[in-house]
Amino acid sequence: MTSSRNIRLFLCLAASVSADSDSGSIWPPSDVYWDGQCTACPAKLYSHCSRGGVLVGERSCGFGGMYCEGKCTEPLLSGAPEPTLYWDGQCTACPASLYADSHCALGGTIVQERGCGPAHAHCEAKCRLPPSTPTPQPELYWDGQCKACPARLYSHCSQGGTLVGDRGCGFLHVLCEGHCAKPAPAPEGADWIIVGGGASGCTAAAALADAGEDVLVLERGYSDLDVPKTEFANTWPEVVNTKAAQNIRWNDGTWGAVANVLGGGTEINGGLYIEEEPEYFEKNFGQDFNTSQFYESSRWVAEQLAEPLQPSSYGHRFVRALHEAKAGSLDPKPSLRMSSNSSWVAYSTFNTTERTWSRRGAGDLLHMRSDMTNLRFYTNYQVMKINFENGRATSVQVQNNFKETVTLAARKGVILAAGAIFTPQLLQVSGIGDPALLRDLGVPEVVSNPDVGQNFVDRNILNFGVWSSERGPLNVGYAMASNSSSQITFETEAWGKVASSFAIASLALVPPDQRTELLRKTMTPLFEGPIAHVMDNMIQFVALNHQTFSRGSVTAVSTDARKPPSVTANHLKDPRDLEQKFTAMAALQELIESQAMADLVGAKSFSGVNAVVPVYLSCIQNGPQTDAKAIIVPCLPDAPASREQYIEYFRKTTVSSYHYFSTASHGKVIDGPEFTVKGTSNLHVVDASVFPNPTRVNPQGTIMAMGHYIGTLLAKKEKARQLTEMV
Ligand SMILES: Cc1cc2nc3c(=O)[nH]c(=O)nc-3n(C[C@H](O)[C@H](O)[C@H](O)COP(=O)(O)OP(=O)(O)OC[C@H]3O[C@@H](n4cnc5c(N)ncnc54)[C@H](O)[C@@H]3O)c2cc1C
Repeated sequence: MTSSRNIRLFLCLAASVSADSDSGSIWPPSDVYWDGQCTACPAKLYSHCSRGGVLVGERSCGFGGMYCEGKCTEPLLSGAPEPTLYWDGQCTACPASLYADSHCALGGTIVQERGCGPAHAHCEAKCRLPPSTPTPQPELYWDGQCKACPARLYSHCSQGGTLVGDRGCGFLHVLCEGHCAKPAPAPEGADWIIVGGGASGCTAAAALADAGEDVLVLERGYSDLDVPKTEFANTWPEVVNTKAAQNIRWNDGTWGAVANVLGGGTEINGGLYIEEEPEYFEKNFGQDFNTSQFYESSRWVAEQLAEPLQPSSYGHRFVRALHEAKAGSLDPKPSLRMSSNSSWVAYSTFNTTERTWSRRGAGDLLHMRSDMTNLRFYTNYQVMKINFENGRATSVQVQNNFKETVTLAARKGVILAAGAIFTPQLLQVSGIGDPALLRDLGVPEVVSNPDVGQNFVDRNILNFGVWSSERGPLNVGYAMASNSSSQITFETEAWGKVASSFAIASLALVPPDQRTELLRKTMTPLFEGPIAHVMDNMIQFVALNHQTFSRGSVTAVSTDARKPPSVTANHLKDPRDLEQKFTAMAALQELIESQAMADLVGAKSFSGVNAVVPVYLSCIQNGPQTDAKAIIVPCLPDAPASREQYIEYFRKTTVSSYHYFSTASHGKVIDGPEFTVKGTSNLHVVDASVFPNPTRVNPQGTIMAMGHYIGTLLAKKEKARQLTEMV
């Protein structure tokens, strides 16, 4: 009922928004090419961009101009090797992309197709093999059995392995022969197995491998090279709605997003790279923490991946707004480290000195080392559980890229880097957790620890999208500021596809209980289409609260680690978090209403919209509901609004911050200098789950440095052990 009403509302809005002639140059100009593929329209439904790059437009082609050809940006300028293309020899019904699962037997993605079979009525796919793809390549064979189509209905693969596709055979090609992949020889293990090739996993791997240790990284998701939208700033917002991200609905109704790709969150995030101050580590990690070693790791990671953001006219405007609000100086300096009481120019993993603003995520640290024989990394390898002998982690059970279950030995240790959602789940399904939960799951207890998965933090934030009278190129950050009395860090993003993409990911234009998957399916074509022209006129003002008092939990619901755990954030359960929302609202309004922003955000309404719209978009056509000078989305309550009305507003517009922490936190689940899981040996955790409290700034810099720091300590300890043995 609710959903159908929303569908109607969005359709109304879509119908009434006139096509925006100012689709504008919102993206730094780059070389483009027409890809010569003529498919049904719109081009984005099909696989275009055979030379690589990203689809940025289309034009009519084919009979009567009924079809569409794609316009693509030239591929990476970041020195990445050229992709290898191959025709996969499988002839299925057209378009080949409908059978995406059965094509590209050597791996990679479909980039083109051509007619095949009788009268060219079928289609064969051309695939792009990711360069230095870490997944071992299978040996393929045609099984010589000609049966009814599709082959997967019958038993093929007489020499073993899995069916990866089929081709026409028999009279007029009406029957099908199976194409099979023999199981590739699996790795038998390594000295160190790192579970999760994300922010912390890749840096831990680099530290250990650079010190000469034998390392195997197992990442459940795709290679980042297989998802082109991970590679550039302009496609950053859209990437949260691709296969590189997994959208999980919390029990509170809000949607979280976690990475499902090599490089983890660093391949799908907004790129801001900031390190915490020393006092944070003293408070959260105690005496054993080697702060100077940590900052060496942080500097090392930043040197590999980060650059200070470049100024822009919008960036300067934000600097002046921060200054007016007494939150920052007029001349902020680039700084890796936050400053708890002033402003600074942030570092970013997007290289904004480059024309294409390419991303350097944590996955790059592994690609750069793909020629090292002591470092191997596999994608599509899902770790299902950790095995123990007398409390010592000895191996992991894995579902490999052929969906076979194998056990891989970890001779020196297992390092968990699966992130704050999946690390506690893996601990629980492996027998470490609350005894009552382990009993319910039917998992034999290895260590009783009720704190595993508790304390979950989804950071308290306030995000206002503000209507702007002009539209410039995408901005991701520039200056930031932090204030210790209001306990807020300020950041901004502007234009690009930030607003429309995150509207799809969060569904936050309706209250949490209405944010269903069905609504997303309805909204997506609208928010990627006509509504994007409206939404993406917005700039974002974000307040990150330093502390989040409400704590939730992450609980495995099955022994199958592929099933997402049950996540409860308990947003705003603690009244102190509500008070922070009021403080953040006042602080953001001061920025929005500053002189610096006045001519940009002064628009009173958006002409062109004349429709019934959801309540949190209504100010777009009616103007601001309060006496605010700007249109703020989600639309504020009608003025004069009571405290209770604001509280209801905060509750109904709550979104996930995508900054998750504390589910295997230091002191509760792990301890010791090398972050060892309590009650075990050889099992360490290095990801966001170890942080007892949220970092006061965007966390990826601190998390990546933490992975490198623990990797360095483990390598040093191992060297010391070897020396002792020699003596
Ligand atoms: C949309 C978005 C925007 C963000 N913006 C910013 C920003 O601008 N700046 C910033 O500092 N931070 C940002 N963040 C947060 C930051 O990216 C994360 O805090 C960080 O990546 C967490 O690091 P991690 O190592 O704990 O986990 P992740 O980076 O998530 O890595 C965990 C990896 O483990 C893999 N994995 C999980 N389970 C298994 C398993 N069973 N077997 C094998 N592999 C597994 C996952 O696929 C993933 O690749 C953002 C996050 C998101 C989602």
